[in-house]
Amino acid sequence: MHKPHVSSHILSLLAALVLWAAACNTSGLPSTQTAPAILPATSIAPTNAVDITASAPEAATPAEAQTKVVFRAAVIVDVSSEPVRREQAQGLFDEANKLLSQLVPIGLELADFVEDSGGGATNDMAQRYMVSHAAALPNGIVLFSFGDNGQAKLYGGYSYTLPGPAGFKNAFASPVVGADQIYVAVVHFGHKYAACGYGGSDTVQSSTSLDGECRNQPGTACVQQNGYSMCANAIGNLYMSTPTYAVSSTIIHELLHPFAPGGDQDHYATPECNARMGYPNGFFDLQESEYYNGLCPFVYENFKDSYQP
Ligand SMILES: [Zn+2]
Repeated sequence: MHKPHVSSHILSLLAALVLWAAACNTSGLPSTQTAPAILPATSIAPTNAVDITASAPEAATPAEAQTKVVFRAAVIVDVSSEPVRREQAQGLFDEANKLLSQLVPIGLELADFVEDSGGGATNDMAQRYMVSHAAALPNGIVLFSFGDNGQAKLYGGYSYTLPGPAGFKNAFASPVVGADQIYVAVVHFGHKYAACGYGGSDTVQSSTSLDGECRNQPGTACVQQNGYSMCANAIGNLYMSTPTYAVSSTIIHELLHPFAPGGDQDHYATPECNARMGYPNGFFDLQESEYYNGLCPFVYENFKDSYQP
């Protein structure tokens, strides 16, 4: 059965040192998805049997563009949750690409953009995409949706993997699930980082923080920022430095989860992460946490090493 690993990214950062105590079910990664019996397209042989004396080669792409490793992700918009326009998705990818490129020599590229009105589980939407695009599958899928049972709307996002069709090989081989999977990030496009005074509602209920908000500091003042009511104690944080930073960061966080063997234990500043990184017990640096998109820094080494074209 499909049982997504829920990473509860943004909420875990807000609730800081509490949530990673929650069990992380990496063993629940799906293993029994029925893969469509469609072979992926083999790479096309270059058609270079031309008269090379005819003309000088085009100046063409710069060397950098030719050698840059890129993780390609298709966007699926679950239109039953909320609309996301292609330009909005592209904007998030451009920002996420910059954030990721600070950490690894790997870019993030929006490979495709589709809208899904078929409903059902996010898993169904991803499967529909994979069946209809079997000839050119991406490395990952970013599915903008409230998520199964509203989990993305609640937490910001979560992550799971799905097996590709028979013969599929992902150039990014996960140390957890191998090279035959596609990485799925379910992300709440409209997620409000450090939302203040909402109390779980879509509209503001209070001018000060309600239960669990503002890093679990009740009575924190709310301020109008980035188009919504935000915790005053979040002003200055990296995640609010642009209106879309936190969601861009969530895309990275969720796409990279399958490269973190410990699941939620491989979040930034967990006891396991601090031990692994040689940080003192209880160490936590908020800005550094956000710089690493909430992941333990070693996960980026895993991601870099996973590239096996
Ligand atoms: Zn996570």
